[in-house]
Amino acid sequence: MNRRAFIKIGTLFFAVGMGCNTKKYEGGKLTNYPITIDSNRSIGHLARKSLLHGISQEIKTDVLIVGAGIAGMAAACSLKGRDNILCDLNPHLGGTSGAITIDNQQFSQGAHYDMSYPGYYGEDGLELLESLNIIVYNNTLDRWDFKDKQHVIKTELEERCYRNGQLYPSVLVDSELKQNFLDLMHPYNGKMVLPTTQINANIKNLDHLTFSVYLNKYLPVTSDFMEAIDYQMMDDYGGKSDQVSALAGIHYYRCRPYYSKLEPEIFSPTEGNYYFIQKMMNHLNSEQVKPNSLVVGLEKLQKGWDVDIWEVTNERKVRYTCKNVIYAGQKHLLKYIHPESYKIFNDVKYAPWIVINIELQGESIDEDFWQNDFLSTNGQFLGFINSRAQTKKGNRVLTAYYCYPDIYHHMVQDLENGANEIVDQTITFINTYFKKDLDPFIKHVYVKLLGHAMPIPVPGYLSKNREVEKDGLSFAGVDTGRLPLMFDALDSGIQAAKRI
Ligand SMILES: Cc1cc2nc3c(=O)[nH]c(=O)nc-3n(C[C@H](O)[C@H](O)[C@H](O)COP(=O)(O)OP(=O)(O)OC[C@H]3O[C@@H](n4cnc5c(N)ncnc54)[C@H](O)[C@@H]3O)c2cc1C
Repeated sequence: MNRRAFIKIGTLFFAVGMGCNTKKYEGGKLTNYPITIDSNRSIGHLARKSLLHGISQEIKTDVLIVGAGIAGMAAACSLKGRDNILCDLNPHLGGTSGAITIDNQQFSQGAHYDMSYPGYYGEDGLELLESLNIIVYNNTLDRWDFKDKQHVIKTELEERCYRNGQLYPSVLVDSELKQNFLDLMHPYNGKMVLPTTQINANIKNLDHLTFSVYLNKYLPVTSDFMEAIDYQMMDDYGGKSDQVSALAGIHYYRCRPYYSKLEPEIFSPTEGNYYFIQKMMNHLNSEQVKPNSLVVGLEKLQKGWDVDIWEVTNERKVRYTCKNVIYAGQKHLLKYIHPESYKIFNDVKYAPWIVINIELQGESIDEDFWQNDFLSTNGQFLGFINSRAQTKKGNRVLTAYYCYPDIYHHMVQDLENGANEIVDQTITFINTYFKKDLDPFIKHVYVKLLGHAMPIPVPGYLSKNREVEKDGLSFAGVDTGRLPLMFDALDSGIQAAKRI
């Protein structure tokens, strides 16, 4: 009998979470297919190694950009015409909007989607997306639509939610409570803009209480209802309603005209938001982009900066002397790279995430819903995306997501030693969802470990401005006090480029 048939879903997280031996795993049928694990755990080792080397080459540039995620890329695009270098520690660019190539097709290993933009969104981000030929203004609906319509998810395929053995059309099921909740959110229509820096100061007081305190104050919420809200908060913000601010929570439900006739389009290519990375890459000169380049030191000069970079492939240290630095990498590493700047960011909490791409072969599944939510006593598993809602091409790939509390960074990174159990657990959940054993169809599993993946918008986070410019050093990225969303990442890069 398949071992999975009698594993209790609720206990699984603890088996993994407590770090049981994942190297020698004897349950399930895992040996039938390969598991590839990708993580950044070696950063510390590489940084230490770089200390043993002198500078091999010195290069001058006007601007050095750290981090080729959405923010760093947007900064580079905005600086077009100015001498700039964009470096990233990874061989593949994109950061949390990265992708993996499976059988010549790209699949998301992080951010999976964006939505059409209302007319009231910030001009700078819209202008960049328009110049990249990604969006076009729709006069009738007063919104910006995506040009590549083939990546817009069909409304009837958007979502299905598993909960207590049943499948529902959405996470928040229709009820009187849901209607009261939407009525409570209603006054914020059009006020929850992106980028978040443009939110009017007179509603910023909502940043000083949690979403759960706010909801409990105004509604007779039930535990079932809060479970659904918590699920949605985890899914987009990496923290539950008792962690994230009311401002972040309300923003989630009101930043676009959801629940109205103007329902925004969901844009989700198989490569997810790596689509935007590629569009920006096409805009840049490939010589200015340096993958496998870890920034290990940042030193202020009388005029400008020295930035030391460890070239991972060449095993050598290069010093860039530049007038300006845009730091768009995650800020927890500033602790080692530039401790003085870390003081601005030492209150940012990051949720670790795990993304698991499961490649299936053959006609394994009948249903083709795009987002498959999964609510269970395991609060960490957030369901999966099914590539067949995005394209009919190639093998079917299911992309599963886990989000953990911020104290679990090490546990997530330790899975580098063996992710068999979490893969087994994921397949169990998916089998439960489809009421079918998918083991015989699994060809390959790819596990991506993201240690400091998503800044959690806890109370106070969105009101503190961390995007300062001092002596030519400027910060960008969603972890500067913005929501972990594509449009905010994009805008933070554009504004950093404007500041220097
Ligand atoms: C699992 C997951 C799913 C998500 N899903 C969505 C979604 O569907 N839609 C959405 O809008 N948003 C989503 N997000 C949020 C996403 O993080 C943002 O939308 C956006 O991609 C963040 O971009 P960024 O440039 O700010 O940061 P990052 O993507 O974190 O990029 C930072 C880059 O800096 C590099 N770096 C860090 N330190 C150094 C150093 N010392 N030297 C060199 N390079 C360095 C890193 O390698 C990385 O590439 C998701 C996030 C996660 C983790």
